[in-house]
Amino acid sequence: MRYNAGISQPVITFDAGQTLIELDLDFLATRLGERGLSVEVAALSAAMPAAWAHYDALVAQGTGHPWRDFMAHLLQGAAVPEPTPHVEWLWEQQPTRNLFRRPIPPMLAVAQELAAAGARIAVLSNSEGRLVELLTEIAIAPMFPVIVDSGRLGIEKPDPRIFAHTLRELGSAGPPDVIPIHIGDSWSADIVGARRSGWRAIWYGRNADAVHDPEIASAHSADDVRAALRRWGAL
Ligand SMILES: [Mg+2]
Repeated sequence: MRYNAGISQPVITFDAGQTLIELDLDFLATRLGERGLSVEVAALSAAMPAAWAHYDALVAQGTGHPWRDFMAHLLQGAAVPEPTPHVEWLWEQQPTRNLFRRPIPPMLAVAQELAAAGARIAVLSNSEGRLVELLTEIAIAPMFPVIVDSGRLGIEKPDPRIFAHTLRELGSAGPPDVIPIHIGDSWSADIVGARRSGWRAIWYGRNADAVHDPEIASAHSADDVRAALRRWGAL
């Protein structure tokens, strides 16, 4: 569905991974079971903080988004012996068996409230080209009239062209008539991309620090996100 052009409702876009959906440890344990590995979900869960810290350190060094390093660290932390071939297999399977498939209900509730209030909402994600299929599989695709997947478009955040493409899909005038708001967990992809595009940004998640830019809000919870949206008149 596309909106009619020329209308100036608020525009709010959501990143997918770690914003609307997160790593599904039950699904990961099941997949490892298919490899003959018996791994407790509790062990994976206990290994998560260290794996994310490792990931964050690599991202901070400019290593991009080291999916495989994160997964290797996670499996190692859960005492999986020789994780490398399993990680390679999971990575090969990721396009069709995406491990980041657990919905984050409080954030989906925010999206629902925005839609009910008349805002135009979209998913704007750096993904592998099968995001629509994944969001359909986990039954959240119908909430979003527009789903933009970098893997399909061939343009990734923070490139302003993917933000501009999303605005066109939403039929919104964009800046300066409407200042869209993008919500995401990645500083380098989500927040940098939104600001380069003249959008406001809500930096959501465990890494969100206070920022000295009035056009960026930091949010550790869905309620923090709501507060920022209200401050900017979007909710
Ligand atoms: Mg993300």
